[in-house]
Amino acid sequence: MREGGKSQGQTMKKTERKKLEKKIAAEIKEVKGRIAVLEEAAKLLSNEGSVRRLSLRELIKAKSAGEGELRAAKVRCNKLERASKKIDDPDFGTCFFCERVIPFERLLEMPETTRCVNCEDK
Ligand SMILES: [Zn+2]
Repeated sequence: MREGGKSQGQTMKKTERKKLEKKIAAEIKEVKGRIAVLEEAAKLLSNEGSVRRLSLRELIKAKSAGEGELRAAKVRCNKLERASKKIDDPDFGTCFFCERVIPFERLLEMPETTRCVNCEDK
């Protein structure tokens, strides 16, 4: 038995890290674009001239839906930016709760996650 050797699969491979880095950058770009669109839509909604066709009720509904989406987009943007700063940390890609390695496929799907699937459900 060999001891002191690095166990395979514990840390992310360089190529994986690079791939993830690109993915995060692309997601940030996308979510920022979404934020810009939502902010523009909110402005238009606030402008009475452009919403004359909507009833007050519809207007309120549209506004709160837009605000909720905008808030969610901003939260995601922050998380992604945090992930992009942390990507070079040795513990990046490990679960915040159980400290197990988060599968690369999961990270690629949601780079902003800090939890593994098991801990996500809790
Ligand atoms: Zn976990």
